Amino acid sequence: MNPPASAPQPQRLLIRNIGHLVTMDPQRRVLRDAWLLAENGRVHSLGTGPAPRLRGVTSLDAHGGIATPGMVNTHHHMFQNLARAFTPIASLPLLPWLAGHIPLWKNFTPDDLFLATQVACAELMLSGCTLTSDHHYIFPRHGAHDILDAGFNAAASLGIRYVGCRGSVNLPSDIMPDWSCQDLDVILADCQRLHDRFHDPSPDSRAQIAFAPCTVFGCSGEHYKESARLARHLKVRLHTHCGETIPENKDAVKHLGCRPFPYMARLGWEGDDVWLAHGIHFNNSEVARLTRTRTGIAHCPVSNMRLGSGICRVNDLRSGGSPVSLGVDGSASNDSGHLLNEARTALLLTRVLHGAEAMTPEQALEMATLDGARNLGRSADLGSLESGKCADVAIFPEQDLFSSGAHNPVHALVLCHARQVDSLVVHGQVRVENGQISGLDLPRLLSRHRKTARRFHDGLIK
Ligand SMILES: [Zn+2]
Repeated sequence: MNPPASAPQPQRLLIRNIGHLVTMDPQRRVLRDAWLLAENGRVHSLGTGPAPRLRGVTSLDAHGGIATPGMVNTHHHMFQNLARAFTPIASLPLLPWLAGHIPLWKNFTPDDLFLATQVACAELMLSGCTLTSDHHYIFPRHGAHDILDAGFNAAASLGIRYVGCRGSVNLPSDIMPDWSCQDLDVILADCQRLHDRFHDPSPDSRAQIAFAPCTVFGCSGEHYKESARLARHLKVRLHTHCGETIPENKDAVKHLGCRPFPYMARLGWEGDDVWLAHGIHFNNSEVARLTRTRTGIAHCPVSNMRLGSGICRVNDLRSGGSPVSLGVDGSASNDSGHLLNEARTALLLTRVLHGAEAMTPEQALEMATLDGARNLGRSADLGSLESGKCADVAIFPEQDLFSSGAHNPVHALVLCHARQVDSLVVHGQVRVENGQISGLDLPRLLSRHRKTARRFHDGLIK
């Protein structure tokens, strides 16, 4: 007779010695001298004072640091880190900038995306991010069909949560040549395939898909309409660029007879399952429609400044009820993917528009956490540290050289030079400890990445 099987032991992680625990709970509590216990990937309990004495628990020392909910990146083009600070486009606005780097990618492969995604995810994790999206739209017509699979696999290799946004272009133009476009039936079939292979709708999900036609100029009305129809049938989210520049609005009126957002809205692109990248140039009636329908925005302040695109109306959108999350945007227009730095820049840029009282450090952290979770459909399990939610935690050193002497360490996290994490926990598992990503040979990865980047640069610059 076999002995009775014993119940599986819960996986428990105790984070102790937290100087400031920024919960982002409904009361926005910040706990001093705190601890957090995770069990089977979820927050079991948290509190102040001496940590509970427990057996069979993995312990993580926060060294008095600041713990926040894992931050959320809601817009990126990770492949572009192979063309950071690319000289020919270093000082151009959006459309010539785009035209200047698209030729680089004609021979882009899944291996290239794997490498770029690992670098981008490592960068994001060290800046406090536990959930990222990637809007990938480079699918050379005669290349491999399964490019985005490499993105999912690379993110999984580092343990970060990932939303692969299946980008697409079906209308050739001066900017997006024929080789970079695909037929709509090919695009929709790949969306379905990726959904079936990778999309996990469960509350603990580490991998999801979103459908993401690139822009109104690269994608037909049917493309937008059919993508929305399939997404709603499969219950996945929708993402695209909208309202990034003034020329985009003018061209849409000229060629489509309508500004981009009302055009998209007519095709089904509004609602709380849609989030739009940038969302800068909306008029008052568009802001009212966006907020009434709870359509989300991914605000990308560094990229918007780099390309001189304009300033998003963050406070108008947030006060009306739309989630406005943060996005580092592609690394050819940022040119770094540091999420905490994006929160700092969002605060500074909103103050440029409306004055010093327009945004507090707490509100910038809300955008990096709660609004990010909302835009990616994860409000129920991510974005705050509360009992029962996922144990995704970023732990930053309390003070470093660039924040030494700070009166309020939590404010300093946003107001001072953006720092890197000491530790990062995803679903109760330690993914970064003492500033090192577990299982990753970073120097080796960067060596391969630089070599690959040179291959692209040399291919264009003779
Ligand atoms: Zn973008």
